[in-house]
Amino acid sequence: MRKKLIAGNWKMNLNASRAQDMLVEFIEKPLAIDVDVLVIPPFTSIPKAYEVLNETHIMLGAQNLSEQNEGAYTGEISAEMLTDLNVTHVLIGHSERRTYQQESDELLNKKIKRALEANIVPILCVGESKEERDENRAFDVVKAQIVNGLNEVENDGSIIIAYEPTWAIGTGDVCSPEDAEEMAKFIRETIEGLYGKEVSEKTRILYGGSVKPNNVAELMGRENIDGALVGGASLKADDFEKLVNFGE
Ligand code: PEP
Repeated sequence: MRKKLIAGNWKMNLNASRAQDMLVEFIEKPLAIDVDVLVIPPFTSIPKAYEVLNETHIMLGAQNLSEQNEGAYTGEISAEMLTDLNVTHVLIGHSERRTYQQESDELLNKKIKRALEANIVPILCVGESKEERDENRAFDVVKAQIVNGLNEVENDGSIIIAYEPTWAIGTGDVCSPEDAEEMAKFIRETIEGLYGKEVSEKTRILYGGSVKPNNVAELMGRENIDGALVGGASLKADDFEKLVNFGE
């Protein structure tokens, strides 16, 4: 049985003191105990976030890491620097990085390997554009992102896949639960093709793209959707609590 995971990607929002305020408020709220919770702040807010989350069950993630181990890579953050800050998960290939930083599948593949070497759980983000969906290429695009991203990557089922159609991110234009489930099922079959049934059954597949308190329950009720990766609605303690409690 896969445990559901609600992950909040704060993107470039909530500086250290705002992050602390938000989390102090959030941890006081009644949270479902059978749901994993992951907070993914900007790098500079991670230490303050840890001070608050330290003695809770809430996990800490990062939004990116370098494909390099260390050295002359100005502005980069290594996997070891993240584990030193108690980070356990990392987003790999969020669509905003694929678009604005031109991150390729080959680069993301290296980042996944770096994360795993450091015992950080990678969350590989995949998803098609509106144009690709309209041209019936969504499944091919997502499959290629997974196959290339996981090329020669060992996987015991702990790697998480986040399906985030780019047209649904930050737009309020949520993918229908039927379409999201159809893609999640396809992703599970793709993982099965790469690693076998046991691994695919263990793999958590998240949906992301305009998940809000009023649509989270319907999405979470689908067989192959094991959680949500949430941007905008994870920034306020009240909304994030509702997401963790599936809207209640
Ligand atoms: C995201 O940033 O991954 C995301 C899904 O954003 P939003 O929930 O705001 O659409």
